[in-house]
Amino acid sequence: MILRRIRRKLYKITHPAIAEVWMLHRVVDSRSDLPGERTLEVTPAWLRQQVDQHLAAGGRFVSLDTLMHELQQPAKRQKGTVAVTFDEGCSETLEQVLPLFRQRQIPFALFVATDFVGGAHPIGWYRQQPPMMSWDKLAAVCRDPLCTIGAHTVSHPHLCQLSEAQVMEELTLSRQQLEERLHIPIRYFSYPYGERNAAVMECARQAGYTAAFEAWGGAVRTRANRYNLPRIPKTQIP
Ligand SMILES: [Zn+2]
Repeated sequence: MILRRIRRKLYKITHPAIAEVWMLHRVVDSRSDLPGERTLEVTPAWLRQQVDQHLAAGGRFVSLDTLMHELQQPAKRQKGTVAVTFDEGCSETLEQVLPLFRQRQIPFALFVATDFVGGAHPIGWYRQQPPMMSWDKLAAVCRDPLCTIGAHTVSHPHLCQLSEAQVMEELTLSRQQLEERLHIPIRYFSYPYGERNAAVMECARQAGYTAAFEAWGGAVRTRANRYNLPRIPKTQIP
């Protein structure tokens, strides 16, 4: 136990933090009563407070491109660097976030599962389906220099339960659909449920992504595996 703590401390000293990557899902005025849904939801007021507290403390927000650049050149890293990401592509999230993020000039990334676009397929874990971004909305927002669009598979499966061929299909087809519909390069990926193993991470590399993000794990540190980049769930409590 003590040995593990010492090892962890040493690791942190030899691998300084580059940035935190915040992971969010829905931003809604009125949060659900169901705990499972509620943990995925934050209010716009709470998010504004988090953002403003971070800025007031001298922090800064960067795009995923900047994050990757600083991961490759750690000398350029700055304390208090955060990249903000939203998974799934719920449309009210964008409506709530855009004015605030534009006003503060905060870059953000949206990880989109292509089957969910326009509500074409239901999201299994919501009792009431959230309104989803349409292809038109995605096409409009992806032109905003603050916005990065990333892939989040086609059907949001548990990737570790699929064959390698099925994983490759989910990773390549989602990327291809986003690139063809939006006419932008798709370089980043986030693992549904944060689930990945060595074979899935290798598929992310082979599918041509620059980097892939999991769903927990603390700060991104120097010499991090680009296909296993941690994020920090931003959860509003209670
Ligand atoms: Zn997801």
